[in-house]
Amino acid sequence: MKTLRQLLQAKTYGILSIAPDARVYDALQLMADKNVGALLVMDAGQLIGIITERDYARKVILKGKSSLDTPVREIMTDKVLCVHPNQTVEECMALMTDKRFRHLPVMEGNKLVGVISIGDLVKEVISEQEQTIKQLESYIHR
Ligand code: AMP
Repeated sequence: MKTLRQLLQAKTYGILSIAPDARVYDALQLMADKNVGALLVMDAGQLIGIITERDYARKVILKGKSSLDTPVREIMTDKVLCVHPNQTVEECMALMTDKRFRHLPVMEGNKLVGVISIGDLVKEVISEQEQTIKQLESYIHR
């Protein structure tokens, strides 16, 4: 299994983030523009939270609030679980399943180096399985 460092090298977008005082509407606009489901919340270069589409659904729509009047900091999750680039795809899948998150920021020491989503992990697992199937087929047809 690959490490996160190898996976991050193949990603198109680096780190997509938003300020805590931005409106939830702006966060949703950025997520839509970039076709992602989560943004890191950064303040003065520090990671202070994460906001995902699920936060919007549960803490804005279901509470009858407006995304235009609600700041990101009000609905973000502030205890962010991060992983290290040397961790494996398998380890991250286990973490996401256990915690029911679909996004994991990747930190090396104090440096934020990327974000891994469940989509990145599923893509990697499928590609590894395809490779195994090809190898087995060529072995059978020898
Ligand atoms: P998600 O499945 O990623 O849309 O996230 C579901 C919930 O968990 C939302 O409330 C997110 O803010 C929160 N969340 C997502 N990823 C993380 C993470 N790495 N650490 C802490 N909370 C997270």
